[in-house]
Amino acid sequence: MRSLQSEIEQRGTRIFELVNQHPESLFSRAGFYQRMMALSMRDEQFKAQLFRFVDVLPSLHRSGEIVEHLEEYFADLRDGFAPLVHTGVRLARIVPWVSGRVLRWNISGMARQFIAGKNPHDVMKALRKRRGQKIGFTVDLLGEAVVSETETNEYAARCLDLLETLARETRGWTDPLGRNSELFPVVNLSVKISALYSQMNPADPANAIAHLAPKLRPILRRARELGAFINFDMESYAHKNTTLELFKKIFTEEEFKDWPHAGIVIQAYLRDSEADLRDLIDWGRARGTRFAVRLVKGAYWDYETIKSRQNGWDCPVYFQKPESDVNFETLTRILFENESIVTGAFGSHNVRSIAHAQALADELGIDPSRFEFQLLYGMAGPIKGALVEMGYRVREYCPAGELLPGMSYLVRRLLENTSNEGFLRAKFAENVSEQELLRDPCELLRKSRNGVLPRSNNATTNAMKDRHPSHSRSLDTPPGDTYENAPLTNFVHQENQDKMRKALSEMRTRLGKEYPLVINGEKVFTGKTIASINPSSPDDVVGAVAEAGIAEAERAVRAARSAFEKWRWTPFEERAQLLERAAAIMERRRFELSALEVFEVGKPWTEADGDIREAIDFCLFYAQQMRRIGRPRLTQNVPGEESYYHYWPRGVAFVVAPWNFPLAILGGMMTAALVTGNTVIMKPAEQSAVCGAMLMEILEEAGVPPGVLNYLPGKGSVMGAHLVDHKDVDLIAFTGSREVGLRIWESAGITRPGQRELKRVICEMGGKNAVIIDSDADLDEAIVDCTYSAFGYQGQKCSALSRLILLQENYDRVMERLLKAAASVRVGNPEEPGVTVGPVIDETAYNRILNYIEIGKSEATLAYQRKDVPPKGFFIPPTIFTDVKPNMRIAREEIFGPVVSVLKVRDLDEAIAVANGTDYALTAGFFSRSPANIERAKAQIEAGNVYINRSCTGAVVGRHPFGGFKMSGGGTKAGGADYLLQFLVPRVVTENVTRHGFAPEETPQYRDEFLWPTAR
Ligand SMILES: Cc1cc2nc3c(=O)[nH]c(=O)nc-3n(C[C@H](O)[C@H](O)[C@H](O)COP(=O)(O)OP(=O)(O)OC[C@H]3O[C@@H](n4cnc5c(N)ncnc54)[C@H](O)[C@@H]3O)c2cc1C
Repeated sequence: MRSLQSEIEQRGTRIFELVNQHPESLFSRAGFYQRMMALSMRDEQFKAQLFRFVDVLPSLHRSGEIVEHLEEYFADLRDGFAPLVHTGVRLARIVPWVSGRVLRWNISGMARQFIAGKNPHDVMKALRKRRGQKIGFTVDLLGEAVVSETETNEYAARCLDLLETLARETRGWTDPLGRNSELFPVVNLSVKISALYSQMNPADPANAIAHLAPKLRPILRRARELGAFINFDMESYAHKNTTLELFKKIFTEEEFKDWPHAGIVIQAYLRDSEADLRDLIDWGRARGTRFAVRLVKGAYWDYETIKSRQNGWDCPVYFQKPESDVNFETLTRILFENESIVTGAFGSHNVRSIAHAQALADELGIDPSRFEFQLLYGMAGPIKGALVEMGYRVREYCPAGELLPGMSYLVRRLLENTSNEGFLRAKFAENVSEQELLRDPCELLRKSRNGVLPRSNNATTNAMKDRHPSHSRSLDTPPGDTYENAPLTNFVHQENQDKMRKALSEMRTRLGKEYPLVINGEKVFTGKTIASINPSSPDDVVGAVAEAGIAEAERAVRAARSAFEKWRWTPFEERAQLLERAAAIMERRRFELSALEVFEVGKPWTEADGDIREAIDFCLFYAQQMRRIGRPRLTQNVPGEESYYHYWPRGVAFVVAPWNFPLAILGGMMTAALVTGNTVIMKPAEQSAVCGAMLMEILEEAGVPPGVLNYLPGKGSVMGAHLVDHKDVDLIAFTGSREVGLRIWESAGITRPGQRELKRVICEMGGKNAVIIDSDADLDEAIVDCTYSAFGYQGQKCSALSRLILLQENYDRVMERLLKAAASVRVGNPEEPGVTVGPVIDETAYNRILNYIEIGKSEATLAYQRKDVPPKGFFIPPTIFTDVKPNMRIAREEIFGPVVSVLKVRDLDEAIAVANGTDYALTAGFFSRSPANIERAKAQIEAGNVYINRSCTGAVVGRHPFGGFKMSGGGTKAGGADYLLQFLVPRVVTENVTRHGFAPEETPQYRDEFLWPTAR
């Protein structure tokens, strides 16, 4: 008996023989597409620019615009490798109207290669042609990027319409193979689940399923009546579990339980795909009706690797291509071994993967007519032909839709066709030998592991492996390069959802407790308390903290002052380790702290988790920073003299924080002060005083000495003002409103009798953040990001979007989608996972925001206001004003709630002028695909943090040091390399080390002894 490998080789060789009779047109030299691909495969920079140009083109309306973009994307590329493009650019300058059209036609031509038709009518032409070639079809509707429920309803209606057309137009068509045709209906529709619900949130699969099922049922019902097959496509990992759950749930319902014509995709590049497939098979057996699985490797490899790296998550996909190939074969075997309940569809263009499925089916005695091969429209034509000729069932995946929504699909195909790792490129562009292409991927993997084969994804792979290196203690490494952020919690995993639910229910039982002040390590009750209430349910008291008055403030200053004398001489390494222990405790108590934030400040799950992550990051980042700057460093290498630059702490720091990032901002300012050797009096906001108490508890557990950190909630106007003016307070770190910030700034400027130091004020204040959407912006992204930036956490982030600036050219297009998107965001109690808009913090805020809404109504046009907000709790409906002018109050004053002012402008000049025309300069955003405009925005927008093509909220420690200027603050950057310097005074000590003309030859780079003599 021959081995499986030799059977695979034999079949593979036969496929190649047939394939070689028909050249693959995608990789031949002729034609615009082919030349572009050839250039892309030679030059990565060109490839990136080309794909970006392809991406933006459909949104450009005028020929002049097309030519401008062409120049911007390609004019600066290195000469020599793309003469074709340079000639094109030159020509385009001379005759833009002709060149614009020619370009659009050519790029549309590229898309047409992969898109079967614009509408059902067009698609039918392609399907009829394939019928003649004995190739079946599954049609997929492009346009999965939906931003609102209106758009999802349109997608569902288009699916129904398509089903009708396909059924009508294919009446009388029969299965090309004949045998076992009952398993393979002629009409086959592939559905993108995310296109049916715009608010899918991985943390809340139940909510998604509750919205998706009613939209799917009519489609499934009609498909069943028409004898069609429905396949659930698989998209990004974030939606995977929900899609699987939905599939199992809906096909277990009485109406669909005995319907065999349903299928789903399994992606072999996912590490958990085998477990998912086995689970599906168990489900299928319990259900007792046949179903289908399309096995693919997966289309989002780059996206998944980027996303997981950005968030610090374990990467869900394999890192090495042969691992995906091996897994594809393992899953092929599982499918065949369970053929009695599941029909396999193998979605691959890789001859090795295909030949393996053929050979294995033979080995296991599976009739070839009981499974099928599926390939993409416009790709691997000769392979399809070969498979048909060999007597296999072949189905083509045919995308249908307009060019604009089709661009992301086109870019995915371009990436696939030019990928270094891809089979098609290896076979058709690089002529890799057939023997090589048919090699057992297990063998390749073994060799790669033994280091025999170079790994093409080395850079990424190594970076992934080292995703969590220990926080570097090297003194000379630049921190920004080495700091690895703490990971966010990935709520895709059921386990994390469960932990959060449990934490919420446990926290509920602990609400209402009393918390003392902590002064000099002693717990102090004052007889007066501040009640912190749950803004979703104002009758519920989250906790009551003791209220400090002037007497306690005085005690705290004395304690901090006296503790300072020892703490300042504590080696920075010990102080850094204190922060690291605190970070570890926060990590341990992560879900508990998140749950507390949900109750105390109304944060949705992911926002709460983001705050804890940020607090952890501050601890770790500042610890690392302190190690970098802590040691006295030689200034210059001069014979005979030694000068050492170093820092001293300032003294007693008064830290005053807001409630909107109750652990991160309070913790960030406090840990910065501690690690630099200052002692701290920490005053949390009254609304988040319980979070402050938790922070105190954490630092105590971490081992902060008595008096070094003192917890002192109280009234800002009484004890806060007293401490700001206090002669023994050396530094004030404040984050909060402009009104209070300016008062502190002024008051601290007055030198009081007995004061030793000029007070240092670190002051972070508000913003009136603008986002500009350029005329060529990707609206699928811009709308989602702007909606989130404006309404996420109720618009109560310092960085939230509050002025949206639209160019008149695309004003109508943006507004149409924005209003519908705003109508779709989830408003509700943030205890529910997946809620975007919860309650605002308290009654005062509630009334203030409602008042601004009234002002808005009198100044501008109320374009949208949500109706269905919960009646109890401080819920403000998301609100959008149009016809807003820059001088109106709603365009100038900080509202700090879910209210957006939309300003219409003529062009980008005016947009930037309007964006800059406020008192504030905190964050700003710009959505554009014009490289020149992006550069302009980067250079000219006045804000401390300028975000291009992404949400303007969500700064990450170390990655996006955060803080503004003008009336937004002192220009300092929390989470940045120079933040700690503000908590320090610089010193230089110089010693003449020459004695009678003799001086030591070597001068050490660092000298610690005089700061930390061992005897002290
Ligand atoms: C009919 C059909 C339907 C499809 N439907 C879906 C779908 O619903 N959802 C979906 O996600 N995909 C889907 N795909 C798959 C996807 O679009 C690609 O076409 C497919 O992954 C290419 O695999 P291949 O076997 O043809 O080529 P190969 O060249 O053998 O494999 C390329 C694939 O290997 C994987 N890969 C690349 N680099 C690495 C690496 N460094 N480490 C690990 N793995 C790597 C990637 O998945 C890449 O796409 C479908 C494919 C077909 C043919």
